[in-house]
Formats: sequence, C-alpha cells, structure tokens
Amino acid sequence: MSVHVDPVHFATCHCGAVRLRLTLPNGIENPRRCDCSMCRRRGAVVASVVLANLEVVEGEDELGVYQFNTMTAKHYFCTRCGIYTHHQRRSNPKEYGYNVGCLEGVNPFDLGEVPVFDGVNHPADRG
Ligand SMILES: [Zn+2]
Repeated sequence: MSVHVDPVHFATCHCGAVRLRLTLPNGIENPRRCDCSMCRRRGAVVASVVLANLEVVEGEDELGVYQFNTMTAKHYFCTRCGIYTHHQRRSNPKEYGYNVGCLEGVNPFDLGEVPVFDGVNHPADRG
C-alpha cells in the first residue's frame, strides 16, 4: 500500500519549533521500523530521503543531536518537545531518515504494516 504525498512536503515536531522541508519525488520511500537499541525505544516509523532533499527551514537552534556507539549516525530531535525529527543514517550517510509521523497531513498508520529493519544485527556490524 502506498500513500501519496506531494513532492514537496513539510514535517514538524510536536510543538512546531522545528520545521523541515522535504522533497519526496517518489513519495514515502522505504518506510520501516527498526529494532536497534535506539529505535526500539523511539518507536517511530522512519523513511529515507537523500540529504539534499531535506532542509531545516525553522528551528535549527532548537535541534539537539544525539550520537552513540560508532557515533556515525546523527539523531536530531526538538529540544523543546523532545520529538525525533530526522537522522543522518549510519547504513547510508548520503541519506537522512525522517520521522514519518512528523509529516504534515500523513498518518503513518495509513501505511499499514511496515517492515522491521534488523538494527540489532546492523549491516555495518557484520564482518
Ligand atoms: Zn518541538
């Protein structure tokens, strides 16, 4: 099941301090959950976008960044409301993952079942 979104879409944190502009020419790509130590706690449905297609248009100063383990991925969140907005991916640093639940006008539950990425056995940790 696919959910149509306009190519240019906005995503906001809960309090609205942080606003992202996303260009999604192919809609919501590769939606997934992940069972790594971070994502299993966060619980968000995440999709991918190339770095050039995500821009922080409001609230750059409000963004916190969290890194752990290999310190490769950068997980951004709103320091006011705590909501995860996006992260620079470890498995593909040329992409951001973003919180599908932050997309304006999109209900992530409309995506139905989304696959679970095996973050416990992260590709970057395999020989
Ligand atoms: Zn916020």
